[in-house]
Amino acid sequence: MFKALLSVCLCASVSVILVACGSANKTTHLPAHHQSDGTFVNTDGEAISKSFTDFIRWRWSRTKPEAYEFDVLVPDLASIQHPQQNQITWIGHSTFLLQLDGKNILTDPHFTERASPSNYFGPKRIVPPAMNIADLPKIDAVIISHNHYDHMDEESLVDLFERQPQSPPQFFVPLGLKHEFESIGISTAIELDWWKQAQMSGLTFTALPVKHWSQRGLFDRNETLWAGWMIDSPTFRFFHVGDSGYSDDFKKIGECFPNIDLAAIPIGAYDPRWFMKDAHMDPAEAVQVFEDLNATQAVGMHWGTFILTDEEMTEPLRLLHEALVKNNLNGDDFSAMQHGQIKKLPVSIKEKGSLCVH
Ligand code: ZN
Ligand code: ZN
Repeated sequence: MFKALLSVCLCASVSVILVACGSANKTTHLPAHHQSDGTFVNTDGEAISKSFTDFIRWRWSRTKPEAYEFDVLVPDLASIQHPQQNQITWIGHSTFLLQLDGKNILTDPHFTERASPSNYFGPKRIVPPAMNIADLPKIDAVIISHNHYDHMDEESLVDLFERQPQSPPQFFVPLGLKHEFESIGISTAIELDWWKQAQMSGLTFTALPVKHWSQRGLFDRNETLWAGWMIDSPTFRFFHVGDSGYSDDFKKIGECFPNIDLAAIPIGAYDPRWFMKDAHMDPAEAVQVFEDLNATQAVGMHWGTFILTDEEMTEPLRLLHEALVKNNLNGDDFSAMQHGQIKKLPVSIKEKGSLCVH
């Protein structure tokens, strides 16, 4: 039963390059987010620490929202198999198919019925994935933001790995998760600490700090890291926030990585605020993150697919619109895509280096 509660989530060659950003703990020479007991904290030095009592208080008092089955567009599979330009397809929740310069990248792939360790309990999918794994093009890379069940779905990951026995995808995971991938037979995971990079076939992947936490079992809280991922191709810069509360991390990321062409920012799973605020931003905070990143465009994610929290499933759309109006922005700047929608992306040849990577 406790596992069911936890499942709510709330939760080529590769070379790795150390970068100059990030502070070190003077006594242990470990980065500041590394604790001496092997766990991790956020960049403010704190672990998100809602107690089990708080969790019970929330679950006891909550009003569960109604299921709302959003229409799912049928993606143009010809366009996906043979893209004529950079593009991104929203498959649902935090899962996107990103197609840049002939490379296919999946983010937090989730294609199964539940965000849970069990097939019988835990948050059930309300809106089906817009594509089946079988309809995907050959996948070159997969990024994982953290180990919560709505982001790291073992069945989907194993399926993706086994479908390409000759050239499996390269999985980029936060520090501490490589072993877990190996334990399920996935041998192509590379784990990165914050502010570290890996390159693959012309793409650069950088793990970056966001404000969240990790837990997958009973006694492994914060034993593995969580991250946002910057993905650079020769013609595009994309940032996937993963799960995060609002924090100063985004201003620093925006300063270190100028010219972000598109950011995928969570806009759902934020109510009640007294419980969720530390770990999940609301749409107004998501718009602030968009401003902090100084990104050209943003798309919303982490909404409209599962019921994880207390807001109505359609509310993120309304609150996003209100926040955009308040900030003199519109849906061209920050859009909420439909499930299955393909968004065409430009070729962007602005300077894509990082001011924090040497
Ligand atoms: Zn999470
Ligand atoms: Zn999540």
